[in-house]
Amino acid sequence: MPINYEPSKQRLQKHARKGLFQHALPEQYGGKNTHFSELVSAHQHLGLGAQDTGLILSINAHLWGSVFPLLNYGTEEQKQTWLPGLINGEFIGGHAITEPQAGSNINELTASAIQENNHFFLTGRKRYITNTPIADLLVVYAHLDGKLSAFLVQKDDNGAEFSDAPTVSGCTSATMGDVILDNCQIPISRQLGKIGMGNNMIQHALELERAFIFAGISGVMQWQLNEVIRYSRERKVNGAHLGKNQAISHKIADMKLRLDTIKLWVSECARLKDAKQRITLVSAQTKLFSSEAFLQSSLDAVHILGAHGLMPDSLMPTFVDDAMASRLFSGTSEIQKNIIAALSGTGDGFNSP
Ligand SMILES: Cc1cc2nc3c(=O)[nH]c(=O)nc-3n(C[C@H](O)[C@H](O)[C@H](O)COP(=O)(O)OP(=O)(O)OC[C@H]3O[C@@H](n4cnc5c(N)ncnc54)[C@H](O)[C@@H]3O)c2cc1C
Repeated sequence: MPINYEPSKQRLQKHARKGLFQHALPEQYGGKNTHFSELVSAHQHLGLGAQDTGLILSINAHLWGSVFPLLNYGTEEQKQTWLPGLINGEFIGGHAITEPQAGSNINELTASAIQENNHFFLTGRKRYITNTPIADLLVVYAHLDGKLSAFLVQKDDNGAEFSDAPTVSGCTSATMGDVILDNCQIPISRQLGKIGMGNNMIQHALELERAFIFAGISGVMQWQLNEVIRYSRERKVNGAHLGKNQAISHKIADMKLRLDTIKLWVSECARLKDAKQRITLVSAQTKLFSSEAFLQSSLDAVHILGAHGLMPDSLMPTFVDDAMASRLFSGTSEIQKNIIAALSGTGDGFNSP
């Protein structure tokens, strides 16, 4: 029986109706004109309440994958056509970069577009694309005349299939699948940005995703820490609270330090964005530190809770899978190190997500 993805879409639309997608966006397209710092606190609040890393991933793919690229690179007509619906949740978006044979190295992407009169025809396959089963619109990167470029593809375009497989084991509540383009026909008005701008657009979108995806996930981690502290106070070992053991309390201190450090990195990204400054380096640092910290804290949380942490209804083991996925999406930890090294004046440079 086919899976019903409507609840996943409705969940995003519920948050859109509460104004979650309006932050840091101009009023003329339905935004709230707020600062990035306000976006960060709204996402932290959501993560704490929902305890769902997949939901956070889904929202971030929508915002940084489609909403902000349209704002930054769209023509006035494209913005008018798509932004109000993407901001109020009528449309769900995302971005399709990765292919089965090309992940970290975007120079190996093979999806292609050819132009015939007033249309483009896109061919290729994209993999691990967040939101695909629920997306109305995806920003798809493909080569036109050998130049990486961006195109707006709708789910009902002729020759486009937004599938729901394969998926991965982390962040499972974010839907995912392949985008299959078989001579997919779109009007030339759906080219986004200039021909050959694809590489820059990808780096720009991923910078924002790296900077802010841990705003929401830090809310999830706050809940994780609260639970661990609660358990360590309630659980008795040798007649004393579990947390009285220094081996346990030090693990909790480490979790607290990691969480507060993530919050500082994310708020620094917001401060720089609000001051209209570059975040290439700081976003790579934020993503690298945060995803590694999330994994270590998730392992610690399971360990502190003992077998109780592995019970079927416990969320703690799912955070380990989510954290493993977080080290991969938006560019792996190694890729962040390549960026940091390159911007520090050493290493091989970077040209990858
Ligand atoms: C939950 C999730 C959601 C995702 N959502 C999206 C999405 O919405 N859109 C999208 O386009 N993609 C998405 N992706 C794909 C993601 O961007 C890729 O998984 C990522 O770029 C890594 O590519 P890969 O998995 O092919 O690994 P590879 O590139 O094959 O890398 C394998 C390993 O080799 C290492 N490695 C590769 N190159 C280097 C190097 N130069 N130096 C050192 N080490 C290196 C990597 O760090 C990794 O450990 C998602 C992935 C996940 C897990």
